[in-house]
Amino acid sequence: PVVTRFAPSPTGFLHIGGARTALFNWLYARGRGGKFLLRIEDTDRARSTPEATQAILDGMAWLGLDHDGEAVSQFARAERHREVAHQLLAEGHAYKCFSTQDEIETFRDTARSEGRSTLFRSPWREATPDQHPGDSAYVIRIKAPREGVTVIRDVVQGDITIRNDQLDDMVLLRGDGTPVYMLAVAVDDHDMGVTHVIRGDDHLNNAARQMLIYQAMGWPLPTYAHIPLIHGPDGKKLSKRHGALGVEEYHKMGYPAAGMRNYLARLGWSHGDDEFFSDAQAVEWFDITGIGKSPARLDFKKLENLCGQHIAAVDDAALLHELQGFLAVTGQAPLSDAKVTLMERGMYCLKERAKTFPELLDKAEFIITERPIVPEEKAAAQLDDVSRGILSELTPQLQNVTWTRDGIEALATQFAETHGMKFGKLAGPLRAALAGRSATPSVFDMMLVLGRDESIARLTDAAR
Ligand code: GLU
Repeated sequence: PVVTRFAPSPTGFLHIGGARTALFNWLYARGRGGKFLLRIEDTDRARSTPEATQAILDGMAWLGLDHDGEAVSQFARAERHREVAHQLLAEGHAYKCFSTQDEIETFRDTARSEGRSTLFRSPWREATPDQHPGDSAYVIRIKAPREGVTVIRDVVQGDITIRNDQLDDMVLLRGDGTPVYMLAVAVDDHDMGVTHVIRGDDHLNNAARQMLIYQAMGWPLPTYAHIPLIHGPDGKKLSKRHGALGVEEYHKMGYPAAGMRNYLARLGWSHGDDEFFSDAQAVEWFDITGIGKSPARLDFKKLENLCGQHIAAVDDAALLHELQGFLAVTGQAPLSDAKVTLMERGMYCLKERAKTFPELLDKAEFIITERPIVPEEKAAAQLDDVSRGILSELTPQLQNVTWTRDGIEALATQFAETHGMKFGKLAGPLRAALAGRSATPSVFDMMLVLGRDESIARLTDAAR
């Protein structure tokens, strides 16, 4: 069975690149009836914060990336990491190294001046316990192979060969007994039963070191898939100046989660020419073979385009539910039940061309605003004496019309005709009266959504 994991360090927000890594792992597991695990790599006590962990959990929850089982704290497993280091020591795959920092510096200086490799070669590697100095401080180092090569069989990058004489005897346990990160990752991945390590290619070099631990312990290796990092639209390493990096910023900008997921899935992975797809399709189609070898570039146009398509495709109740979530995360008041009912009624026209929740809300302004409607300047200019006269003549006729789009439209068209005016002439004042704005959904849609009584009330107000 496939087991993947997402292993973020809780030192800030959930980075968009991290979210993509999480998504790839999630898709891979979900498409194979596997498990997707979450491990919080909180061993850096100075930089790890509970707020950052919460931000990661929130970001994943927003994107619907549910993980199996409890989130694992790496720090909480330090005892187990120590245990493995001691097992390696007992089995002769690791050794106690008593070299001091000064001795290591001197070794390096000498190596440098003699033009040799500065990789530290500890004199304690082959020492027997009786040669150990009493209670001096020591670190535990792995006995790395010095001959031959280590091959990382990466399913994205291909085989990466590293000469073993370029690996040093990495420290497993520091002088104070704390395990190093590399040990923690290897032990945790093994203990959690991780079969596929899908992560950013900034960890490619670490794989060789982590493999040493697997090999020394006799554990089967996971499959490695190191994915190229995300670049900015200009092809340079992604940074703040390219735009938002934290996933919660995208949430607050009002992109729907399904659109964001679709976009992130396409960022570095492809399935033929498919751009727009559902979660079910992504789960079915996702495979490591579709991951590209070169860095994907952020493309905000594409993100918006996909978001627009998802807003159009998702069912109205789900969209409204997500809209309420957007209001909450941006500190805005939730929509009342009455407004939700009107929004549901109007969703068919509100959705049109909206790519984000703010755009949807902008279209819905005529629903959200309450009487008395205070027109904006441009709209107010539409409500001169003449148009107010026209509105007061039209309004009573609305009382008896069949309240359907066709019914209202027929009346308004006929009314305009009888008065020898183009319908466009009538639309401006109607918009101003109904919404107080000049850019709105069609006047018929607004009237239909608001209902007869509310429409008549607004028009009557404006005609006064
Ligand atoms: N904690 C690492 C990071 O956030 C990931 C380690 C891994 O995936 O092996 O970059």
